[in-house]
This record gives sequence, C-alpha cells and structure tokens, in this order.
Amino acid sequence: MMNSAVRIASDVVPFSRPYRSQSELRNLESVLSSGHLHGDGAFTKAAADKIRALSGSGQVLVTTSATHALEMATSLLGIGVGDEVIVPSFTFPSAADAVARTGARCVFVDLDPATGNLDPQQVSEAVGTQTKAISIMHYGGVPVDIDSIEAIALDHGLPIIEDNAHGLGVIAGSRTLGSVGILAAQSFHSTKNVQCGEGGALQINDPQFVERAEIMREKGTNRSQFLRGQVDKYSWVDWGSSYLPSELNAAVLDSQLDDFAEIQRRRFAVWDHYARELEDWAHANRVERMSPPLGIHGAHLFYLLMPTWDAQGALIAHLANLGIVATFHYVPLDSSTAGRRYGRSLQPLTKSEDFSRRLVRLPLWAGMSDDQLERVVSGVRSFRVL
Ligand SMILES: *Cc1c(COP(=O)(O)O)cnc(C)c1O
Repeated sequence: MMNSAVRIASDVVPFSRPYRSQSELRNLESVLSSGHLHGDGAFTKAAADKIRALSGSGQVLVTTSATHALEMATSLLGIGVGDEVIVPSFTFPSAADAVARTGARCVFVDLDPATGNLDPQQVSEAVGTQTKAISIMHYGGVPVDIDSIEAIALDHGLPIIEDNAHGLGVIAGSRTLGSVGILAAQSFHSTKNVQCGEGGALQINDPQFVERAEIMREKGTNRSQFLRGQVDKYSWVDWGSSYLPSELNAAVLDSQLDDFAEIQRRRFAVWDHYARELEDWAHANRVERMSPPLGIHGAHLFYLLMPTWDAQGALIAHLANLGIVATFHYVPLDSSTAGRRYGRSLQPLTKSEDFSRRLVRLPLWAGMSDDQLERVVSGVRSFRVL
C-alpha cells in the first residue's frame, strides 16, 4: 500500500485544474501571427460582448484581473482618505485591497452561516457618516440577499461594489449577478470557472462611469476615443494605470467563453454528485453540506461545514493521505495582519471565524473524471467525525 509520501503525482486528485477550451490554440496562433499582441483587439472586444451577454451588465471592460477591476471601482467612485467602505470579513482580500489603496478604511462585517455571504443586518448597523460604499461578494455564486442590501444602499444613498468572481452567468430571479452593483468585477484567474491565466473584467452598470473607466484603464489617456475616431490624437487626460490585458490573454478568454455552457454543465454535474452522494454521510456525522437557500449557485465551489474546528484539519489530513487535495480558505479579513491595519469592525466577527474554521472545500473542476469523483466521495465517506 502506498502512503502520501510515495504517491506519484498523477495519482493525486488535484483541488482544481484550469479548463482547456477547443479553440484556444487556434486563437493564440491567430493573435501571434497578426502582430497585434497588445490589448483591445478583436478577441478583447468579442470577450467583452460575451461577458456582457452573460451578466446582463451595461458595459464591460476586460481587465488584467478582478483585483484591478475592483481598484478601478473604488477609484471611479472617488473613494479616498477619511472614507469608509463596508466589506465582508469572509472574502478574498481583493475587495479590501481596493479600498486600502485609496487611503480609505474598511469596516468589516460578519456573515450569514447559511450562505457565507455578508449579513444585511450587520451592514445596516455598520453604516456611518463616513461610509461611502457597500462591497458585496456572492460566495460560491450564491446570491447575497440582494433586496435587503439594495434597500440599505438606497436608504443611505450608497453605491454597491459587486465582486462577482464566483458568479458569472448566475441568474437570481429577475436579476443577473454582475448587474447588481453600480460597478462589478469578474475574475478569469486560472482557478475560476472561465479562465485565461490572469484576467478579469469591470462591469459598468451606470453609463456615467464609462468614459472615465476607459481612460483609467489606458494609462490615463483617451486612446479608446482615438481608436474610435472620436479625437484626432490621444494624450494624458487624467490619472490612470495599465488595466488592459494582452490580446493573448483575451484570445484564451474568448475561446473559454465560447465553451461556457459546457464548462457549467460539467461543473454542475460534479456539484450535484457531491450533494447527493454525501447526504447520508453528512447527516450521520453532523456535517452540513453547502446548500444554497434557493438552490441558486455558480458551480464554482462545493464545501462542507464540519461540526468542530478540529474536524476540519482532520478531514483535510485524511483526504491528503488518500492523495486528495481539499482546502479551506479566507482567514477572516478583520483578524488578518493587513485587516487590522486598514480596517476595523464593530464587534468580534465570530461567525466569520467559525465558518472559516469549519469549512472544507472539495476538488471541483470541469474536467474531473468519474474515477476522480468517486475517489473523493469514497474518501470523504471513509472519514468519521469523532
Ligand atoms: C479569485 C478572486 C478574486 C481575485 O481575482 P483576480 O482576478 O485574481 O484578481 C477576488 N475576489 C474573489 C471572491 C475571488 O474568488
């Protein structure tokens, strides 16, 4: 019998594998031979159109990452020193980075354990005179309580910044994720459902930001207007940076977006299999399976909530011994080193801590084989919570 130390790499069930699309090599070849390798070529435009169609958002600018799209959002909203932005504690650091870089502070709020999403009640309590925006993230593509958050935002005249890294194409009733915030971010990092290595998009749901966003993305120049023939030369007109990806990344992104339905079909099949096959085991071991209240999610991740903090490490170690990579994530931002420097919270965010310390994410990607899936299911089932 093999133990983990001698297990060969091909025998390991990885946590995630980037999707490979049919046409990506053909697309890359056509970009390389065209000589147009910098940004905003035909593939960037085609990808932006597809993202807009999937997310029902007004305007889409493909960017170098979701983090950069979020940076653009806080800059476009004019957030700065002396301002505060409400940010979930249980999220990836990018939303907080985007606040911190402007000199503003984060006010971290706790989560709803049924979803991992920020709790509207906490948001409402956190609003103060310095609050300038509310930042939301749909964990696993499970929609936040949109009606409640929008009511709070409307009451106080606050814009919503939406991190939709997990929810491309997710429809929640009459809404599409990515069209909720006045500005929203999408990620195409290699760990995401649709990926191009590193990439993202800014979704602009209020036309007043389009012109400024185009300038910001193009190093502060009006080059986009120049390319459309709206001005006869371009120059430095405002602050900006380089938020525009290479056409090589866009070529891969566009081909992945062509396969979006297939990617999602395969990821949902894995998700549904876990939900079904682990039901009895979960019940017998006092484990909660990810179960979106309305059944709506993005098939980005599947998690288990263990009954105790010790059981988290024990299950991850048990699976590692079987050559299966499972993980947990999001050390709550309020308790992180940078979170203490750049933010505050009204009270200890105990639900975020508890969620983070009980969470186990299982492998999930579009190309998982039946054999790999079975190994994970039987590996989990062979674990007993003490
Ligand atoms: C992946 C991720 C990001 C960061 O995306 P990049 O494109 O790598 O900047 C931000 N927020 C969430 C919720 C993510 O999962």
